[in-house]
Amino acid sequence: MMTAAEALSRLRDGNRRFAAGQINLETLASRARRDALVDGQSPFATILGCSDSRVPAEIVFDQGLGDLFVIRVGGNVVAPSQVGSVEFAAERFGTPLVVVMGHTQCGVVTAAFESIVDGAGDASRSLRSLADRVRPAVLSVIGSRPHASLDRRAVIGEAVRANVRVAAEHLRHASALLERRILDGGMAVVGAEYSIETGAVDFFDLTTL
Ligand SMILES: [Zn+2]
Repeated sequence: MMTAAEALSRLRDGNRRFAAGQINLETLASRARRDALVDGQSPFATILGCSDSRVPAEIVFDQGLGDLFVIRVGGNVVAPSQVGSVEFAAERFGTPLVVVMGHTQCGVVTAAFESIVDGAGDASRSLRSLADRVRPAVLSVIGSRPHASLDRRAVIGEAVRANVRVAAEHLRHASALLERRILDGGMAVVGAEYSIETGAVDFFDLTTL
């Protein structure tokens, strides 16, 4: 199994190809590759990303079958089932790198912002529970600034990154299992942001690498 740093550089290379329009989905999802994975998998990275239809992890990193263990949830939030999935990949496959990936124009972060600033209500309890996990990050960006003078675009943009930082830090301490693997140097949890506008991924939080 590769190291976290090697895994990161593979993701960076793949995203460069994607942003340049050089991906080859046929090779990545070929019949031969599918056959080679029948008896097992050894994904080199776990990606915790948003469900947004514009941010499919395998495509934006130009990776194929068997490469990535992907968890997608609105707002890339960390709830117990996400922690369990990250632990599963770490324990079963020794996956060395975990990437929490937010993205520009995130609808869940925007909804959390609107619920705070405009007092907009969430449609259901389940939706509220999603927004509740994002709200602290948004509040940390808004701080004590008066709502009327907020630059919405700028605040939501900053809040996306704050939300990634919160989720990555939460994962790093979410369980004894994950803490131990990070301390042993067998795993790193990093934070990234995908740009809907450019297709580029910026790995801006490399705290445990
Ligand atoms: Zn999103």
